[in-house]
Amino acid sequence: MTDHLELKAYGKINLGLDVVRKREDGYHEVRMIMQTVNLYDKIVMEKTSEPGIRTETNLPYVPDGEGNLAYRAAKLLADEFEIKDGVTIRIKKYIPVAAGMAGGSTDAAAVLVGMNRLFGLGLSKKELMKRGVKLGADVPYCIMRGTALSEGIGEILTELPPAPQCHVVLAKPQVSVSTKVVYGKLRANELKPEQHPDIDGMRHAIENNDLDGVISRLGNVLETVTIPDHPEIGTMKEILMAEGAEGALMSGSGPTVFGIFKDEEAAKHACEVLKKADGGRLTRQVYLTRFFNLRKSDR
Ligand code: ATP
Repeated sequence: MTDHLELKAYGKINLGLDVVRKREDGYHEVRMIMQTVNLYDKIVMEKTSEPGIRTETNLPYVPDGEGNLAYRAAKLLADEFEIKDGVTIRIKKYIPVAAGMAGGSTDAAAVLVGMNRLFGLGLSKKELMKRGVKLGADVPYCIMRGTALSEGIGEILTELPPAPQCHVVLAKPQVSVSTKVVYGKLRANELKPEQHPDIDGMRHAIENNDLDGVISRLGNVLETVTIPDHPEIGTMKEILMAEGAEGALMSGSGPTVFGIFKDEEAAKHACEVLKKADGGRLTRQVYLTRFFNLRKSDR
């Protein structure tokens, strides 16, 4: 059995994000179209004879140890399976942090998969997903990956066929957004009908491989909270559209914005324009990427 693993933990965007209602227990019921993108953190896991879980990241503002979701993922399985050996987890972050791209959740998902392989636990993907939800609502999806409809508090997943391919420009403005604060400010039960994105229509468009249908239904109800607080997000969407994006939207609770392009050259040019915007102050994190879906045989 191997005692060293290298894993890719992929980020996601939301092509659609609706909040159906706030439940009495305080949780928000969501309907989201999730899409994995080809932007990933690199994780190296090593089994050690010295007991205990150690985490390291390349960014000073991402916590080590118990504050890191990857640590909590390793601990969950180490406790359940009474694993005596230790494990070292090294994370190189590429996914923007606190950005609406599920960076922490995807690292946790990768570590669950890694622990399963490293220690030969024999858990199926479904069994890993069941445990993942204890760490965060998006963790089961991050284990599943690809294109999916996510409902409930994010844990009820329906796999969809891969969304039609396109070029995706991702950019994070230089502001921090807390998912908790955004949901806290959302008046979910007071939203007007036209503020809810057409999630079922988006699902059908994906099933029909209809990129224009997907683009015309891009929508995220959390923009109603995050954009008034951070006008930079609106500015970025305007730049993307002016540069030829077919559509542009904030991902998750933000502040990351993505633009969908059919033309690769236009997408590359948009990246350059974003990097120079406001004398380089608008954003320092701009990426050109694609949707990521595993081949059917790999799922
Ligand atoms: P989501 O889209 O699920 O709301 P996010 O992309 O907005 O997530 P994360 O990148 O997951 O946010 O980071 C949120 C906070 O979680 C960070 O401020 C950081 O302190 C903490 N955190 C814990 N573990 C990690 C990790 N492995 N990578 C990034 N952040 C982490």
